[in-house]
Amino acid sequence: CGIFAYLNYLTPKSRQEVLDLLVTGLKRLEYRGYDSTGVAIDSPDNKDIVMVKRTGKVKVLEDAIQEHFSGAEYSEPVKTHVGIAHTRWATHGVPCERNSHPQRSDEGNSFVVVHNGIITNYNDVKTFLSKKGYEFESDTDTEVFAKLVHHLWKKHPNYSFRELVEQAILQVEGAFAIAVKSKHFPGECVASRRSSPLLVGIKTKTRLATDHIPILYGKDDKQLSSDQDADSGKPQELRPHGQTRELPVLPRSDSTSEF
Ligand code: GLU
Repeated sequence: CGIFAYLNYLTPKSRQEVLDLLVTGLKRLEYRGYDSTGVAIDSPDNKDIVMVKRTGKVKVLEDAIQEHFSGAEYSEPVKTHVGIAHTRWATHGVPCERNSHPQRSDEGNSFVVVHNGIITNYNDVKTFLSKKGYEFESDTDTEVFAKLVHHLWKKHPNYSFRELVEQAILQVEGAFAIAVKSKHFPGECVASRRSSPLLVGIKTKTRLATDHIPILYGKDDKQLSSDQDADSGKPQELRPHGQTRELPVLPRSDSTSEF
């Protein structure tokens, strides 16, 4: 029901500081109601993504985080770090740790996803991916997105992280906001929204620093306020089922035949 991502790249911060910020973000989202919570950060050797998920309140997650990340290796400052976090209000799959977010692409945690909303065609995507050999470990609609990005990454090794997520977005229907983290793209976070609000806050010392953050815009390249629809600029309504919007940006569109 609430996603929160934090990208730190100017002032070195420890993993513990990043986790504190993620928990603070989740606490600010508590008013939206939720049944479970979770976070993902990089492992100390940067070779893996570590996730902690819990059913129940953010406080339960906070205690679990303190226990899990108390080691000295988590207090070392690092220059760039991306953390993602979630409060879930289940729509597909009962509230439990297995169904909590972040959801992952594979056992190696290549891509991990936090998602607010519903992917309405998740069954079609699931069938497609199952035929490609993917096995699903949750009952959520969200997991198909993580595995779809993984499938595209294997198929298009030269795509940037942003291009991979954009291609995946083209295949899914529904209203949602999503944030993706990957161990193959350290220091990067890609977020997207369709008919759901998503706020981006940027704190920089110099204006130049914002140039490092690519921000997706709506169809007419106007930055949208969080309560406007990307197509019409009008206040949002739920998009009728089956109607998808093509995101702008990508010149490549080889996703139409077989994504
Ligand atoms: N549909 C997703 C799920 O059931 C996300 C629900 C939410 O917005 O928290 O896991």
